[in-house]
Amino acid sequence: MKVCIDPGHGMSNRQMGIFDPGATHVENGFLFREADIALRYGLALKDALRASGVEVFMTRDDATDHAPVGRRATMARNAGCTVLVSLHLNDFDDDSANGLEVLFRDADDRSLAQRLQSELLEVTGLRDRKIKQRNDLAVLKFDGTAVLIELGFIANDGDRAKLLDAQIRDAAVHRIAAVVMAHAAAPA
Ligand SMILES: [Zn+2]
Repeated sequence: MKVCIDPGHGMSNRQMGIFDPGATHVENGFLFREADIALRYGLALKDALRASGVEVFMTRDDATDHAPVGRRATMARNAGCTVLVSLHLNDFDDDSANGLEVLFRDADDRSLAQRLQSELLEVTGLRDRKIKQRNDLAVLKFDGTAVLIELGFIANDGDRAKLLDAQIRDAAVHRIAAVVMAHAAAPA
């Protein structure tokens, strides 16, 4: 098994040479960017998987790697991945919106999405927004197992505090790694 980790947004995501920060939020003069938080989760997940002997491919390792959103599924396939995990944060006009959700496209991936949803709710304490089937997301157009985790809402103070907490991040990525490995060993 080789897992593609896709930290959402970043350089050339929507337009070549332009950095796409994803959702942003300013609090006390500090700018929080979805692209940065997703990358931090991605790199931590890479370490967790590699520590368990799982091969990993990253669609981007930093803020300068070019990763057009329409090419990410192809990049994962070309790298020989059979599983793709995309990491994002949610955003909404109303800062009270909160919670975690896992998105998937193929019916085959529903059980993995549900398992990730349940386990991540347990370690983060975030609100359950339920799993959702989505056919319109470019990154999920991957001919293998693919899920997109919306970790929480960047503009919600409670969600953001949790997502920036290193202990929660560590627990979350280890749980993602364990669920992905268990699914690969025995697909439900
Ligand atoms: Zn996003």
